[in-house]
Amino acid sequence: MATEQAPTLDADVIILGGGPVGLAVAVDLAWRGQRPILIERGDGEVVHPRAGGFTARTMEHLRRWGIADEVRKYFNPDFPLNQRFCLSVSGHELATARLGTLRETPTPPETPEKHQRCRQMYYDPIIRKRAIELGADLRMRHSVEAFADKGDHVELQVRNLETDEVLTLRTAWLVACDGGRSWVRDELGIGVQGNRLNHSLSVLLEGDIVGHGGEEAAERYIILGPKGPWANITTMEGENRQWRMNLRFDEEPDLATFDPQEAIRRAVSPDADLKVLSILPWRRSNIIADHFQSGRILLAGDAVHVMTPTGGFGANTGIGDAVDLGWKLQAVIEGWGGDALIDSYEVERRPIAFRNVFEAERNHKAWSPAEDISRIAEESPEGERIRRRIGEGLVEASYPEWNSIGVALGYAYLNSPLCVPDGTPPPADEPSVYRPTARPGHRAPHAWLSDGRSMLDLFGNGFVLLSFADKEAEGVDALLAAAAERKVPIRVECIADGNIAALYEQPLVLVRPDGHVAWRGSQLPDAGGLIDIVRGKTVTPQVRTQVERQTYYAQARREPASELAA
Ligand SMILES: Cc1cc2nc3c(=O)[nH]c(=O)nc-3n(C[C@H](O)[C@H](O)[C@H](O)COP(=O)(O)OP(=O)(O)OC[C@H]3O[C@@H](n4cnc5c(N)ncnc54)[C@H](O)[C@@H]3O)c2cc1C
Repeated sequence: MATEQAPTLDADVIILGGGPVGLAVAVDLAWRGQRPILIERGDGEVVHPRAGGFTARTMEHLRRWGIADEVRKYFNPDFPLNQRFCLSVSGHELATARLGTLRETPTPPETPEKHQRCRQMYYDPIIRKRAIELGADLRMRHSVEAFADKGDHVELQVRNLETDEVLTLRTAWLVACDGGRSWVRDELGIGVQGNRLNHSLSVLLEGDIVGHGGEEAAERYIILGPKGPWANITTMEGENRQWRMNLRFDEEPDLATFDPQEAIRRAVSPDADLKVLSILPWRRSNIIADHFQSGRILLAGDAVHVMTPTGGFGANTGIGDAVDLGWKLQAVIEGWGGDALIDSYEVERRPIAFRNVFEAERNHKAWSPAEDISRIAEESPEGERIRRRIGEGLVEASYPEWNSIGVALGYAYLNSPLCVPDGTPPPADEPSVYRPTARPGHRAPHAWLSDGRSMLDLFGNGFVLLSFADKEAEGVDALLAAAAERKVPIRVECIADGNIAALYEQPLVLVRPDGHVAWRGSQLPDAGGLIDIVRGKTVTPQVRTQVERQTYYAQARREPASELAA
C-alpha cells in the first residue's frame, strides 16, 4: 500500500504581493527568524506613491524592525503641516488648520514614536531592503497565475516575467496581499460589503505650488467649489517640488479627454505651470471582506479592507494585520501554536477594519460642509462671511483627521479568544484621544524605563510576563514550566518602577509577541490552562457572536461598551 508523503515545501509561508502590507508580513516573519518567499509582479519602483502617512503604531513596529530612523529621513521636518481649505491655491482661503512642523510636533508621551510622513517611493525600498537583510526571499517580476489549497499545503503557479518560465511552488500558508482588487479574494468567492464613493484621479505634479498661495505654505490644500470639495493637493516630501493632486468625479472620467492642465489652472491658479509626471485613476471606497481566511490562505491589507484615504489609515491598518499574523504564523510553523491560533486572526482584525473604515469615512464626510455652500465663491461681504463661517466649521470638523492618536493606538482585540477578560470595561474609543490601558486585548502601554528603553522595546520575541511585584510572585515557575513543556517562548521581566506598575494596574501582566496584553492579574491562574488559551489551543466559546456585536458597535457606535465586555 502506498503511503501518503508530506509534500516538500518551498517555504512555510509565501506572500503574494509586495506592496506595503506584503512587505510588512515579510519583514515581520523574517524578524522572527522565518524565511518567507514574497512574490511581486512589479520591479519595486513606485512611480505613483499612494501611502505616505505612517501612524505612531506603525512607527512602533518599524522601531522593532530597526528602520524607524531611516523612515524619518524622507520628509522635510521644517515644512509647515498646515491644512488649508480654499477655493483654489491662489484663490480665497476659507480657513487653515495650523499644525506646525514635524520638528515642532512633540512625540506624545504615550508612545516612543510620533506619526511620520514618508512617501511610498522611499518607504517601500526601505522595508524591502530590511526584509532581505533579515532573510526573506523576495522574488520581484514574478506573477502568481494560479493557486490551489490542497488541504495540507497550498500550491502556486508562478511565472517569472523576465524569462517566462512557470514554476510550481508549495507552501504551508499563503498570505495574499494583492491589493484592493484582490484576485485571490474573488477566486475564493469571498464577498465584500461596503460602498463605493466616488471616482478619483490622482495626478502627480512637479513644480511650484507654494508660490501661488501667498506667504504661508501648506502640506495640503483642500479645494472647494459651490458643489463641495473637488480637489486636494499634497506635498510628497515636504518640499515645494513634487505634489499629488487628487480630483473627484461623480462619473468615471475618460482619460482620453481629461485635460490635467485645465484642472491645474482651476485648482492652483490660472497662470500655474506644472509638469504632469503621472496620472493614476482610483476609486474612493469603503469595502470590507466577509472573511480574512479560507483554509490555508490568509488575506491582509487592501485585499480585505479598502478605505477612503482621509486620515491615511489604509496601509497602516494592513500593517497591523501583518503584525497580528507574524507571530501566529511563527507559532504554528514552530509547533507551539494551537489549532485555533490562525483562526483568531480574522476574529481580531476584522473588527479593527470596520472601526478604521468608520473613522476614515467620518473624516471624509468632514470635508463636506453640511450647509448650503452654493454662494461660497460670491465676491461680496456675504460671500466673505459664508467662507469664514464654513472655513471655521471645516477646521473643527476635520480635527480628528489631523489628530488621530486614538485611532492609531486605542484599538483593541475586545473579544479575542486569546485574551482573558479581566472584568474591567474598555475605555472609550475616540479618534483623537488615546487612553493607555493594560486591559487584556489592548496594546501594552508605553513608558520610558530608567535605562532609556521604551516598555515596548521589551516585547516582540515570545511572550513576556511583566512582574511589578516587590517579591517573587507565586506560580511564575509553574507558568514557565508549562510554557517550556509546550515549547512556547516566554521570559519574565521584573519592573521596579511604581509609575509603570500603576499604569499597568496589576502586579502580573502577560504580553503577547505582538505587544498586546493577553492576561493580567494579581495571581496566576492554572498555568497550563492560561498558556493553552494564549497560544490558541483552547477555544473560548461564543467568540463569533460577540465579534459580530463588536463589529456592529464599530459601525454604529451605539452599543454600550459595558455590553461588549460581557
Ligand atoms: C491617494 C491615496 C493616498 C493614500 N494615503 C495613505 C496614507 O497616507 N497612509 C496609509 O496608510 N494608506 C494610504 N493609502 C492607502 C494605501 O495606499 C493602501 O492601503 C496600501 O497601498 C495597501 O497596501 P497593500 O500592500 O495591501 O496593497 P497594494 O499596495 O495595492 O499592493 C498589492 C501588490 O500586489 C501585487 N500583486 C497583485 N496581484 C499579483 C499577482 N497575481 N502576482 C504578483 N503580484 C501581485 C501588486 O503588483 C501590488 O504591488 C492611500 C491610498 C490612496 C489611493
